[in-house]
Amino acid sequence: MRPVAHLADRDDAIAFAAFHTLVAPALRAAARWPLCRARHAGSPCRAPAGTGACAECEATLDDLLFDAFARLRTALAGPLPATRSGEPVREMALLREHLMSPRARDEDAAAFAGPLATGGRDGEPAWLRAARAQLVHYPLRHLEERVRRADAVRRGASARPDRDLRQAVWAAPLRVDAAGLDMLILAVFRVRRGVAEPFEVPDDLRERHGLTRADASRRMGDALRALREVNPAFYAANIGELGSAVPAVAAADPQERVETAAGRSAARATIRRLLDAAEGEPARRAARRSGYRAVVAAVCAVGAGRRGAPIAVAAERLGLAPEPAGRLVRRLAILVAAAGVDWSEQLTAKSPTGGPPRRGGRRRAR
Ligand SMILES: [Zn+2]
Repeated sequence: MRPVAHLADRDDAIAFAAFHTLVAPALRAAARWPLCRARHAGSPCRAPAGTGACAECEATLDDLLFDAFARLRTALAGPLPATRSGEPVREMALLREHLMSPRARDEDAAAFAGPLATGGRDGEPAWLRAARAQLVHYPLRHLEERVRRADAVRRGASARPDRDLRQAVWAAPLRVDAAGLDMLILAVFRVRRGVAEPFEVPDDLRERHGLTRADASRRMGDALRALREVNPAFYAANIGELGSAVPAVAAADPQERVETAAGRSAARATIRRLLDAAEGEPARRAARRSGYRAVVAAVCAVGAGRRGAPIAVAAERLGLAPEPAGRLVRRLAILVAAAGVDWSEQLTAKSPTGGPPRRGGRRRAR
C-alpha cells in the first residue's frame, strides 16, 4: 500500500508514486473532454494501439500531472499559494495539514483515487474535496483554450489570429472589406477548431452583411485569396491545405483571371494598367484614369487605417451603381493587398491626373 502521507514524503520519488496513484485517474478523467474538444473536434481521443490517449494528449496529461505535483510540493515545502487578494489558499492549507497528519499514514492512496475521480459525495472528507479542487480542477482551468492555443503556436499559426487580422499592419488591406474580414476571422477560428465545413458562411453572418448564399460563398473565396496574397505564411499556418477545398471562382472575365492568379508583380502590373490606360475616347479615358486613381487612393486610405469611402468614390467618379462599385472596390482591395498598400499609394500620388498615356498616346485598336 502507498499511504496518502507519502505525498508529503521528503523523497520526491516516493512522493510522486503516491501522488500518481491518488491523482492520475481523476486528472485523466477530468482532462479527457477538454482535450477531445481542443484536439479532436469533439470525437474521442484514442491511442494508436492499446488503451490510453494519443501521443500528444498523453504528453499533455504528463505535463499537467507534473505541474500539479510541483505545485503541491512547493506548497508543502514553503509558503502556501496565495489568492489574488494575498490570502493563503485555504484548501491547500487544509490539504497540507492532512497529508502531514498521523491519520494519513494509515490511508491507502489507491482507495481514494476512485472517490477523487468520481467526485463530490456527501460526507466525503474535507481534505479529499480540497485535493480535488487544488490538484485536479485548478491545474485544468482553461485547459481547452490553452491546448488549442499552444497547438496553434506549435504549428506556426498565430496565437491570436483574430487580433492579427483586426490590428496587424500587414492585414490592413483586408480590412477594407468588412464582410470579408468577418469571414476570414470565422474561417481561421473554425479551421483551428477542426469544424467540418470551415468555409461555409453561416446565415447570421451572411444576413448581417446582406448577402445571398451565392454571394457569401464567393466573398469567402475572395477573402481567402486576398489573405493568401497578402500574407502567404499566415495563410499556410492558419488555413493551410484546407484552403484548396474552396471552390475556385469561375473567372469568366479575363481581367479577373489575371487578378486571381496575381502575385505581387502581376497585381502591380494590373494596377498600373488600370491607372494608365483605361479604354474609350480620349476624354473618357482621362476621366476613367483619374476615377480609378481616386478609387485606388481611397482603398489605400482605408487599408492604411485612415478615412476613406472607396465604394462611394467608385460610384461617383466612375458612374457605377452601388453593387458594381462594391465589386470593383473588393477586386481593387485584393489587388492593392497583393501589390502592397505603400506601393499603390505612391503610385496614385505619382501619376499625374489625366496625364498623357505612356505608350505614345495612340488609341488602342478595338
Ligand atoms: Zn488526443
